[in-house]
Amino acid sequence: MADLTDLAVIKEVLTRHGFTFSKALGQNFLVNPAVCPQMAAACGADESTGVLEIGPGLGVLTKELAQKAKKVVSVELDTRLLPVLSETLQAFDNVTIVNDDILKADLPALFRQHFDGMRVVVCANLPYYITSPVLLRLLESGLPIDAITVMVQKEVAQRLCAAPGTKNAGVLTVYADYYAQAELLFSVSKGSFHPMPQVDSAVVRLTMRNRPAVAADDPQKFFRLVKAAFSQKRKTLVNAVSSTLHLPKETVAAALAQCSLPSAVRAEALTTAQLGALYRALRAEEVL
Ligand code: SAM
Repeated sequence: MADLTDLAVIKEVLTRHGFTFSKALGQNFLVNPAVCPQMAAACGADESTGVLEIGPGLGVLTKELAQKAKKVVSVELDTRLLPVLSETLQAFDNVTIVNDDILKADLPALFRQHFDGMRVVVCANLPYYITSPVLLRLLESGLPIDAITVMVQKEVAQRLCAAPGTKNAGVLTVYADYYAQAELLFSVSKGSFHPMPQVDSAVVRLTMRNRPAVAADDPQKFFRLVKAAFSQKRKTLVNAVSSTLHLPKETVAAALAQCSLPSAVRAEALTTAQLGALYRALRAEEVL
């Protein structure tokens, strides 16, 4: 079987198919042979697991996943890669390529069609231009996903896994923590890709929680509060929330006091649980 991390093999296959890389589609393919086996091992796939992959590219990670999982479904937007993948993955009868945009695909239907009754994990080297929307789509989907193991830009990995009170904490941190337990597994240098991107990457595993980290009767309203709280990083939470959500400052300050939080606190200093308590205090006042 051809080594898809060998640059000479990649060039030969791509030239034969007349393929040129699309920067717009985030096409930086992995050429470090150590990375895909590590990702496949970390994602938790076994012979009873279905894996959803996003953006198989040449199939370098797909091959590793197919050797571990019962079934792999890979969603690839670029039609030009379909004949390439038919060739590189021809040895595997447990791989299905779906030609679709992961942001538009009907995921519940895809799960029903391919993963019925199976434990499912997600594993992908994500196209960087859509990292956050893809992760939010998966996290909010309510689909029976056990874990999401993804390669993302290093800065995004740091935000996903940031501890409250650190400079990297933000809306994405709270989203990840609300739905999952986030772990930064390992870093991957930009030299591990072809063509080489401008930034380093890291692999993150989001292990989905059985229930959200905080009790919020309306998650959309909870995240509206979270976004407002982080909307103006230089401002205190009271100022940011009151100006963004058009609430009286006294109301927000009183809710903070009710949660035993200092009036001058900033959003990034709060844990997800504290943001949840603030949400419930404001909901009790019927202002959210
Ligand atoms: N998995 C391969 C690897 O690790 O070498 C390729 C990863 S490359 C960073 C991202 C892949 O996602 C490319 O194959 C690209 O065509 C595909 N892609 C980009 N946008 C997409 C979208 N909206 N939906 C599905 N796939 C997409």
